[in-house]
Amino acid sequence: MQKECFTCHSCDKRVEFTPEEPPCMALSGWLMLSHWQGLESVDHYTFCSLTCLRRWLNAQVPQIPEAFLKSFGEKE
Ligand SMILES: [Zn+2]
Repeated sequence: MQKECFTCHSCDKRVEFTPEEPPCMALSGWLMLSHWQGLESVDHYTFCSLTCLRRWLNAQVPQIPEAFLKSFGEKE
């Protein structure tokens, strides 16, 4: 039987499901991100938890220095 598989982009955890089974059952709690690159070009990323999504995002996006965020707070 052909099995399909999703892999978490952050921790490499895998979840398998068969085509007969609705993927939403196996993927309960998982997150899927679509990164549109242009016409008919889209990257899909799967994550097993919000923690993994956050960890991955932190690696993609440069950290905002805390001093920079604080300067906004002080103006209000
Ligand atoms: Zn994960």
